[in-house]
Amino acid sequence: MTAGVPEIHEAPVVVLGSGLAGLAAARELRRLGIDVVVYEAADRVGGMADTHRDEHGFAFDTGAHFITNRFAAAVGIANRCRTVQHYGETVWLRGRAHDYPFGLLRTPHYLGAAVRVRLQGKVEAGNAAERFRAEYGAALADEVAIPLLEQWSGLPAEQLSPAVAEKLPGDVAATMALKLAARCTGRAVAIGYCREAPQSANVWHVYPEDGIAAVCRALAAALPDDVRLANPVERVLVADGRAVGVVVAGREVPAAAVVSTLPAPALARLTDHPALDHLRELRFRAMVFVNVMLRGRDLLPDTLTWTPEPGFPGFRLAEPSRSMPWLAPAGRTLVTADLGAEVGDAVWSAPDDELGEQVADAMRAIVPTARRDYLGCHVLRSPVAYPVFDLAHEAARLRLADGTGLDRLLSVGRNGEFAHLLMEDSYWRTLRRIRALAAELMGCAATQDEGAGVSAG
Ligand SMILES: Cc1cc2nc3c(=O)[nH]c(=O)nc-3n(C[C@H](O)[C@H](O)[C@H](O)COP(=O)(O)OP(=O)(O)OC[C@H]3O[C@@H](n4cnc5c(N)ncnc54)[C@H](O)[C@@H]3O)c2cc1C
Repeated sequence: MTAGVPEIHEAPVVVLGSGLAGLAAARELRRLGIDVVVYEAADRVGGMADTHRDEHGFAFDTGAHFITNRFAAAVGIANRCRTVQHYGETVWLRGRAHDYPFGLLRTPHYLGAAVRVRLQGKVEAGNAAERFRAEYGAALADEVAIPLLEQWSGLPAEQLSPAVAEKLPGDVAATMALKLAARCTGRAVAIGYCREAPQSANVWHVYPEDGIAAVCRALAAALPDDVRLANPVERVLVADGRAVGVVVAGREVPAAAVVSTLPAPALARLTDHPALDHLRELRFRAMVFVNVMLRGRDLLPDTLTWTPEPGFPGFRLAEPSRSMPWLAPAGRTLVTADLGAEVGDAVWSAPDDELGEQVADAMRAIVPTARRDYLGCHVLRSPVAYPVFDLAHEAARLRLADGTGLDRLLSVGRNGEFAHLLMEDSYWRTLRRIRALAAELMGCAATQDEGAGVSAG
């Protein structure tokens, strides 16, 4: 960039990506009166928050499934959402389903080990395996939690940061109270969903009538002239330790600041500045989501079934249509198997039909009629589904939590923060960081905090 360092009155803030985080950032900047432009590589907004529908009435969500009524209200779609009445999780172990989280503790072997470890007091854990053993006792950790974690992340638990086991605030009594509230109100009260805002009986799961993509469409509607689709950013420009612009379609675009929602290693590659070199090491787990269509309804023990059983492809099965019947036509259901993969490996490259039949076969342990009632499948692949908290790259992950190391360059969103964020958390975190950036750009201590009072609803 030759023109030096642009100031706020000379150049817009440039946002990379029009998924949830990019659009939330842009809408907030616009609300604060700051000029903004969003560049999006794809030809639609939404990123990971997308819903595919087929001609038979099945709806397949790419990433997100559930949002809360509080988040829907913040985005402006509360009156266009349906209430989810039930959500539950089970663990399938040795041929039977156990309620999650408390059901497994009815097994004396697990309960005994869990009590013993609690009596020993707090232990400093150096890795995820130690952390799980210290939290749940060796029996539950070694037979359930660690095998699930290893399938999900693709690495031995000893090589993963203990941070993967970080729990949401809240104790057993609070969880039980929320479960009771769900039963009494007939709503799927959100439990363990959001870290940035309090849990309460007044915060429950909802689903947009038009599919999960409605979240980003609503945010984009507030930015009618600011989103440039099919415009991938090719480079981020830096001068004097500060982001000063981007290159799009070979053209330099000056920026008062740059807000990226790209996976952190991708931002490091686009910026090509030594301050970000450590981010290139960070790795994501690719996933193949095999959506199996079946005759019948409510086939799994509950909405989500975790299974550490050896020989099972993947680590969990979800039946979203159990909680959201409108995702499948009458008399039909949808079961999604999450299969961990590496881009290009045998799972990633397997033909869709082969994957669908493989999952239907494996499911027979839980749903004996799965093969007979199999109608076909719809397979989605994500190369960057989950950040892997590899201990070998722990320093880079922790450094990113303090910022990118360059002025006026933010990395936000799930893959930008390299964190296991669901949309609501990502939304509140992004707003906070954008307000701090806005205050810096406008040379004032703080911005108006409309909507910042995140409450339990
Ligand atoms: C399996 C799974 C299940 C989930 N379930 C839930 C759930 O139930 N509830 C929930 O709330 N959340 C859920 N999430 C999380 C949720 O999907 C994400 O937090 C959210 O969609 C991420 O939004 P984002 O804006 O951070 O990133 P993205 O949606 O990835 O957006 C990044 C955007 O950047 C664009 N881009 C890439 N490169 C460039 C470039 N060079 N120039 C310009 N643009 C570029 C991409 O095309 C994309 O649109 C789930 C995630 C996964 C993986």
